[in-house]
Amino acid sequence: MLEYTLSIKKGPNVPVSQKIDDILKYIKTSSPGQNEFYQATHDVLLSLAPLLEEDSRYIEHNILESIVVPERTIIFRVNWINDAGERQTNVGYRVQFNSAIGPYKGGLRFHPTVNLGIIKFLGFEQTFKNALTGLQIGGAKGGSNFDPKGKSNNEVMHFCQAFMSELYKHIGNKRDIPAGDIGVGDREIGYLFGQYKKLTGGFEGVLTGKALNWGGSRGRKEATGYGSVYFAENYLKVYDKDLKGRRCTVSGAGNVAIYTIEKLYDAGALPISCSDSKGTIYHEKGIHLASLKSIKEIHHKSLEEYILLHPDAVYTPVSQYPEKGHAVWHIPCDVAFPSATQNELTLVDAQKLVENGCILVNEGANMPTTSDAIDYLRKHDVLFAPGKAANSGGVATSQLEMSQNASMSNWTFEEVDIQLRTIMQNVFKTVYDTSVEFGCEGDLVKGANIAGFRKVADSMIDQGSV
Ligand code: NAP
Repeated sequence: MLEYTLSIKKGPNVPVSQKIDDILKYIKTSSPGQNEFYQATHDVLLSLAPLLEEDSRYIEHNILESIVVPERTIIFRVNWINDAGERQTNVGYRVQFNSAIGPYKGGLRFHPTVNLGIIKFLGFEQTFKNALTGLQIGGAKGGSNFDPKGKSNNEVMHFCQAFMSELYKHIGNKRDIPAGDIGVGDREIGYLFGQYKKLTGGFEGVLTGKALNWGGSRGRKEATGYGSVYFAENYLKVYDKDLKGRRCTVSGAGNVAIYTIEKLYDAGALPISCSDSKGTIYHEKGIHLASLKSIKEIHHKSLEEYILLHPDAVYTPVSQYPEKGHAVWHIPCDVAFPSATQNELTLVDAQKLVENGCILVNEGANMPTTSDAIDYLRKHDVLFAPGKAANSGGVATSQLEMSQNASMSNWTFEEVDIQLRTIMQNVFKTVYDTSVEFGCEGDLVKGANIAGFRKVADSMIDQGSV
């Protein structure tokens, strides 16, 4: 580790491009195989160049080499007993990335693909996303390679209890406040909270995404999807456009996708697709929201069930997806909302979106668009809203949940929704204004990365070398 650190040239006279290059080389060698983490740091660092050229303090204070290293990485074994009475072993992670502007905050992901590189990329992105919300929350992410799919309720409960039996030592309502993410919904948050309470003897707002009866916030479930649509509306407005009558493709069929689709209908748009890990639904007359909620939220089934209820819809299984692409982006649309997972919109997909006249790609998921696909979209004048800005409504509403817990109050759905709308408008304004300030009007990738970085980095400088 030491030799990699030493190879980064220090001092005020090191050119910005060399500094960025050195740090990326350091990340590649010190975090081998962590491709998603490398991709996220690469994309953020490159877009910071205009700020670093203008303000030498960040280089002078060696902020770049510090900000790419998590403050704390916790990796632990999770042993639990399955229904057959057998010991099962998974790996648990919590990466507490940056606490410069507030206590650590970020979701937990339970999915078989989870590894350290994925949790680090998510924690890194979360740090800047949280800064953009204007709220006092630092960045973190956690999770496990545990797969809740196909497990009984009892097994999920035992896993969550075992996971929390280690995690509780590192979190707290003023220290680190996890939430849900892929594979972690109401049920998992309930079991995790129950175990935290049992172990600590305290009833505190240590997790967000809780049920309404025991400290949850109205509007939290809907917040990421609704916020994503509010963000798209703000962005389109700049170009005298809106979502009314637009054909929108949405990927995913989980929390973010479902409430994106719901809000798209409210906005007068027509959401025509959704997808899960097995395939894609295209429903030309519009996704039937009640059927989607019933299949996914209540029965936790595959989207194949959807065509049994709606034979006029088309189902494409993953085996028939275009090579190196995803069926959902090959459906002609005006606006695309990738809302499932990372790297699900590739260069091949971006080419198809451009060919079909798509005007905006609005990221509901974290880093769903590959770097070459983003470049292609931008070069072809497709508006692009990066996830760290467009999907920040979820974490912002989590912070509203924390506020309600701290003041022992309960706000109405309307009160939360009004605040969410205002927050998304402010996030957009921050990101857009920053793009204007740095001479790249409308380039929200640069705008989001620079605005998020500047707030966190300035706070790090203020607080000294800790
Ligand atoms: P979720 O409720 O678990 O839903 C995830 C959806 O994506 C499911 O339909 C799932 O398919 C699909 N999916 C997951 N992994 C996949 C893969 N490797 N390939 C294909 N499909 C896959 O999760 P979510 O909360 O909606 O999160 C979706 C995205 O939004 C993630 O990137 C997450 O980090 C991001 N995000 C979430 C929030 C939030 O508040 N929840 C906030 C900000 C960002 P199956 O149904 O087959 O499992």
